[in-house]
Amino acid sequence: MKSSIDSYDFIIAGMGAAGLSLAMQLKNSSVKFSRVLILDKQLKNTNDRTWCFWTRDTQAWYQEAVTRQWDCIEFKSDTFEKKFTISPYRYQLIRGIDFYSFCLQQLQVDSRFEIVTEEIKALRSDGAYGIVETVNSTYQASQVFNSAFRNAEVKKQHVNFVQHFKGWVITTEQDFFDDSCPIFMDFKTAQNNDCRFFYVIPFSKKKALIEYTGFSRSSIASEAYDAKIKEYIEKDLKLETYTVIETEIGQIPMMESPFVNPYGVRITNIGTAGGNSKTSTGYTFYFIQKQVQSIVDHLERGESLDTKKAKRHYKLYDKVLLDVMDKNRISSDILFATLFKKNKIENLLAFLNEESSIMQDLSVLNSVEKLPFLFSLITKLLN
Ligand SMILES: Cc1cc2nc3c(=O)[nH]c(=O)nc-3n(C[C@H](O)[C@H](O)[C@H](O)COP(=O)(O)OP(=O)(O)OC[C@H]3O[C@@H](n4cnc5c(N)ncnc54)[C@H](O)[C@@H]3O)c2cc1C
Repeated sequence: MKSSIDSYDFIIAGMGAAGLSLAMQLKNSSVKFSRVLILDKQLKNTNDRTWCFWTRDTQAWYQEAVTRQWDCIEFKSDTFEKKFTISPYRYQLIRGIDFYSFCLQQLQVDSRFEIVTEEIKALRSDGAYGIVETVNSTYQASQVFNSAFRNAEVKKQHVNFVQHFKGWVITTEQDFFDDSCPIFMDFKTAQNNDCRFFYVIPFSKKKALIEYTGFSRSSIASEAYDAKIKEYIEKDLKLETYTVIETEIGQIPMMESPFVNPYGVRITNIGTAGGNSKTSTGYTFYFIQKQVQSIVDHLERGESLDTKKAKRHYKLYDKVLLDVMDKNRISSDILFATLFKKNKIENLLAFLNEESSIMQDLSVLNSVEKLPFLFSLITKLLN
């Protein structure tokens, strides 16, 4: 039966951030393969998102797709505000379309990669093969990497948030924005008993992305974001004349519930589907890079894939932080202001990127009010 099915070394199901990152890392690796199929229902020819993240690696393989990077970020709240120099980190921005084009241009001229636009219907393992069924065909490979389907194992006691947001890219006639320092978080807005903030990413002195964001159990109506963004631009930034040239809206899972793999051993979940959206912040792009690197390292060494995260203590920190926010044990603006005020920025960024030392962990954990975190820790350890 299997001889009638098209066979590949690897199939990458979904060519967003994770699928394309994996394809590019495979291309650049010493892994031996002759055929890789990349499947997506979309052509990836629109600018559907903007990624921001911080990293110490300024020579990464995707560096050419980075539009801007800064060594400064600004934090603002009613109780504390500061511009931080974040060296050795850089805050980087990649436009979705630049990333997709950068990757596709290189993959399309490498004859080992075949890119097919088809909707995937089902995934499963069958003996030595991972099977991918699309609307038109069936394909098989000894290893399939899935970022198309997300399956979370939700339990009643889990706290599952979404980071929900809408952003406007605006331009001005005159120089207006300080393009040397993005506003990373601006909490000078009503918290509505959850966590709300703005951020401002300046592409240039005349162009910026202004986003209104919430961390909560559910999102809000699209018009509500628009009203808040308009008010922020006009009242807080005090900008009267501007043009909205693009908008982006989205949600990122911030979930205590784990993402699981119901498809068997021949399928490996990657990207958000592989649990790489950080539970307490929603940041994902950098974690995808770490997962993909680990997969390619395993393949290069000829080892079986084990992409389970070794650093399980970060999962516990995230669950506890999410519970503190969910129960509103500390108002989120105060909580984040404390983290930014009482920590060296390098320690905090390392902690949030899950690359901190024990000493850095201890200093971050020690910076927050203990009792609310203790209550949440006990709650999480008991269920
Ligand atoms: C608007 C937006 C902004 C974001 N900004 C940031 C940020 O600033 N920083 C950060 O770290 N993270 C950010 N994220 C979160 C995260 O980095 C992105 O969602 C990232 O794209 C996740 O990568 P992924 O490969 O897991 O999923 P995706 O990039 O969504 O890729 C999944 C792919 O699977 C395809 N697919 C789905 N179903 C099927 C099907 N049935 N058949 C075929 N193909 C299918 C989709 O078309 C898509 O191309 C953002 C997310 C959004 C939505």
